[in-house]
Amino acid sequence: MAVDSTPPGVACGAPDRGVVDDFCRQLRVAVEQSPVAIAITDIDGRFQFANRCYVEITGYRSEELLGRTPAMIQSGETPERLYRELWEAILGGRVWEGELLNRRKDGQTYWARESITPVRNDRGELVSFVAVKEDITERRRQQAELALLATVFETGQATLIADAEMRIEKVNQAFTDITGYTDAEVVGQTPKLFKSGRHDAAFYQRLWRSLMEDGHWQGEIWNRNRHGEIYPLWQSITAVHDDQGRLRHFVSVFHNISERKHMEQELERQASRDHLTGAYNRRAFDGALRQAMQQAERDAEPLALLLLDIDHFKAVNDRHGHDTGDEVLRRVAERLAGSLRSTDLLARWGGEEFAILLPGTPLRGAATFAERLRSRIAESRLLGLSITVSIGLTEYRPGDAAAVLLGRVDSALYRAKRGGRNGVVIAGEPAPGEEVLW
Ligand code: GH3
Ligand code: MG
Ligand code: MG
Repeated sequence: MAVDSTPPGVACGAPDRGVVDDFCRQLRVAVEQSPVAIAITDIDGRFQFANRCYVEITGYRSEELLGRTPAMIQSGETPERLYRELWEAILGGRVWEGELLNRRKDGQTYWARESITPVRNDRGELVSFVAVKEDITERRRQQAELALLATVFETGQATLIADAEMRIEKVNQAFTDITGYTDAEVVGQTPKLFKSGRHDAAFYQRLWRSLMEDGHWQGEIWNRNRHGEIYPLWQSITAVHDDQGRLRHFVSVFHNISERKHMEQELERQASRDHLTGAYNRRAFDGALRQAMQQAERDAEPLALLLLDIDHFKAVNDRHGHDTGDEVLRRVAERLAGSLRSTDLLARWGGEEFAILLPGTPLRGAATFAERLRSRIAESRLLGLSITVSIGLTEYRPGDAAAVLLGRVDSALYRAKRGGRNGVVIAGEPAPGEEVLW
């Protein structure tokens, strides 16, 4: 494409010299002051003209450029192939457009988007080239930064971006992986879509207040995924404002903490359990006892406590070995646990002793229960062995300290042993055939 520079009003008839001069002057001013860089070279590529912007971009004064070729502004980092294509196009009379990495006089490189137009004379011969270029260094930097941010967005934690009305604008792959919802299914919706029903209105009010007042909220939240499953998340929501302080977006970043919660629960469970029998351990029992006593005191509810000891257990070990002894312990615990209500608590108190807490159970009920336990174990054969247990029983009396309560149940158990074993003794009450000595 060759440039037609015929001035207006000159196309037909003889050119009016005044009009042409005037037009050329205006054109020169326009080119000189253009916000894009413009240079004209001769057919060998030597600068004949460079406008102000061209001078600014390259850092060379006009006099330094004139007569020389653009080789002086090449960075040496643009592939040769590109220059070959460029020359091939413009020498062939075609416009070339492309991006070149150039170098300023001060040595700094910059990216230029350039178009070079060949100009022909009346005889159709190439006479010059007009190069128009724009510094796109900043645009390329921003593009690179955006591409980088997009990579971070796509590869990072689950992220949701919403507008100031909390309507979802964008979500990433990790979001889809966790929630099951694709971009298309959630854009335009609000996060109400994920409500699990596990939190009350006050929870959401606190969240909003913190977002509005502090610009941030983070915490644990239970959501519902696309398949209807409820799961815990650790979520961090940030309000994003513009330069004028107007709320523009909310950015929410989260990760699924189901696994961590399971692990915590499992660790907690293991820390409170006896490894052999799975019953609560002594430490957990102590805490549960204290709590149950407080509750009994506060609600004036009954609380019964049983202490159970396997009779002649040493003989089981001696005759059948320690492993069999262990298995008997496991089976006894299993049987005891199977007889309890969900509010009762079974703990391994010591070697072959178990404690059972029965909140809300009056002494008489607990005595019936203890008797049933005793007879059930006595009547069943565990690993082919006859196993019996002795049980002491007491109830919480208002004002009791834990040590007092435990002392009482321990001495009841002692009396059950002394009374011949395989029996239940209630603290403060005579056992069958027992002399009343206290
Ligand atoms: P009593 O009827 O007076 O309770 O007699 P006992 O033999 O059961 O009582 P004693 O306290 O003399 O013996 C308890 C035995 O329990 C001794 C100990 O080796 C055994 N024992 C304690 N813990 C375990 C355990 O974890 N596994 C096994 N196999 N035996 C245990
Ligand atoms: Mg024993
Ligand atoms: Mg014992």
